[in-house]
Amino acid sequence: MGAPVRYSLVAEEVTAACRQAGRDPAEVRLVAVSKTVGEGAVSAALAQGARDFAENRPDQLVAKATAFPEARWHFIGNIQSRRIRDIVAHAALVHSLHELRHGERIDAVAAQLGKVQDVLVEVNVSGEQSKSGVAPADAAAFVAACAGLPHVRVRGLMTMAPQGNLEAARGCFQGLAQLADEVRRGLPGEQATAFGELSMGMSGDWRQAIAAGATMVRIGRAIFSDTFE
Ligand SMILES: *Cc1c(COP(=O)(O)O)cnc(C)c1O
Repeated sequence: MGAPVRYSLVAEEVTAACRQAGRDPAEVRLVAVSKTVGEGAVSAALAQGARDFAENRPDQLVAKATAFPEARWHFIGNIQSRRIRDIVAHAALVHSLHELRHGERIDAVAAQLGKVQDVLVEVNVSGEQSKSGVAPADAAAFVAACAGLPHVRVRGLMTMAPQGNLEAARGCFQGLAQLADEVRRGLPGEQATAFGELSMGMSGDWRQAIAAGATMVRIGRAIFSDTFE
């Protein structure tokens, strides 16, 4: 027996938080992070209205995207070169690009598959050593380099906040939003138009992320775990 799935409850909370922050709920996409659950829980979330799901392991991305082609599948995990073909074949959006060689490989594979791969650039705003991502000072040059790849479209930025400190999380999210504005101003017209997504906020800090301008929140435990408060 799996835990009860709380997608519709969390979706209502996200809508309410948008209104409280003076934001249009249509601007914020709830991405259900299904990395710890099986297909039964994905089915249950789909039945409650979920359309976007995220995985952090290529094998799980392939399996679940194949089982549920009606959903949009996001890749939020560590990118390894040898798994890029599987990722590009199944991901609508890759949130975790932070190495140019991976961007170049995504471009080559996407060209072969006849697609343009939407990606976000992961930024290590907090500077914690345990976190991956480009340094904020390098973000503009990195985005410009990736945006120049013909089969890669950079849609925005992603970050993970320090855990267990909501004030630090808030500062991190505000920092990403400000950085995205700066990066966008440096992009040529069409690339600037495509570049509007801010993927930030998880189960413990998504309210702070929405207040700071998130357009995607990535929520796992609050939807799928029976132990999350
Ligand atoms: C697991 C994960 C999430 C979801 O975290 P929860 O705390 O379960 O909501 C979000 N983003 C990334 C990159 C993750 O790996």
